[in-house]
Amino acid sequence: KYYNMVEEMKGKIRVFCRIRPVNRSEATQGGAIVVDKLDDYSITVEAPRGPREFQFDKVFSARASQEELFQDVNRLMQSVIDGYNVCIFAYGQTGSGKTFTMVGDKDQKNPGIMPRSFNAIFDIMRENSSKFDFKVSAYMLELYNDRLQDLFVSQAGEAHSQTQSHGPTKRVEIKRNRKGVVFAQGAETKEASSAQELYALFQQACANRHISATRMNVESSRSHLIVGIMVESRNLTNGSVNTGKLSLVDLAGSERAAKTGAKDHQLKEANSINKSLSALGDVISALSAELPHVPYRNSKLTQVMQDSLGGNAKTLMIVNISPSEYNIDETLTSLIYATRVK
Ligand code: ADP
Ligand code: MG
Repeated sequence: KYYNMVEEMKGKIRVFCRIRPVNRSEATQGGAIVVDKLDDYSITVEAPRGPREFQFDKVFSARASQEELFQDVNRLMQSVIDGYNVCIFAYGQTGSGKTFTMVGDKDQKNPGIMPRSFNAIFDIMRENSSKFDFKVSAYMLELYNDRLQDLFVSQAGEAHSQTQSHGPTKRVEIKRNRKGVVFAQGAETKEASSAQELYALFQQACANRHISATRMNVESSRSHLIVGIMVESRNLTNGSVNTGKLSLVDLAGSERAAKTGAKDHQLKEANSINKSLSALGDVISALSAELPHVPYRNSKLTQVMQDSLGGNAKTLMIVNISPSEYNIDETLTSLIYATRVK
């Protein structure tokens, strides 16, 4: 009985590890491969002081396709329809494959979790359309330097406000409603009636993110991308209404900033990222350890993600790592972060 209880609680936060293929620059530098998948649940890393093993709920090798990965993510989509809050996020250094995993490649020949989720959600809704009325809406946000930006609003016309520190003209604040559902006050929520419509909204958000990053001359990998999809289902027999939410997060790169040569704005950026990622680690490890106090309020990131972490929510963290010796320090840092949340 005790064992079952532990299993049940453990079930709420899952951690996957995905190893990306060696890239061209790693191959030409001739660096060794230091990460090896042992079996579906563990990897070994040739650390400077000897081999280390790490355990996960699932390991995906460099050969694993987007489809294979999604097979293990897909059941969470049913949970969203069933009224759960589900959060899926990718963690790792820049270049480790977070965006590939969450979004896909640039030409969308290998779509990632986001577009696949959009399809899966609408597929499940279609199968249940005789018993339920569904409504899907979404917000899409970017969190940069502790500032939340609505990606449905184009910042293209604000080229001269970039040096001002008070941020975008429209303030986005995180609030919670009576049911504890987080919503982004000041950010637009748009409805979508098909997977294609939802994907079009997402593309619009990505385009706005790109414009805003270019305007401020920052790398998009230095900000967090947060997509919230709300699914409301009304039972046609008894009229009861259920709301589930899927939060999809492509986190900023976890690498530590170079201490030398970093410009002021890069240091500010790095501090803000470090602060938010460690706040996220603190929240998840407090949840795993079942501490009475979960420090959600320590960063905007954990505030936005609050209703998708803990409580009834189901959380999936994907740790993306490089296989190469060249990146071993950051790889170990990411793996240790991941074991901390287990
Ligand atoms: P991050 O978002 O963590 O900075 P990216 O997702 O942009 O990293 O990945 C860096 C590069 O590696 C991209 O060109 C991406 O397409 C490629 N890549 C990452 N993971 C994989 C993978 N599993 N299979 C093939 N290419 C990948
Ligand atoms: Mg990225």
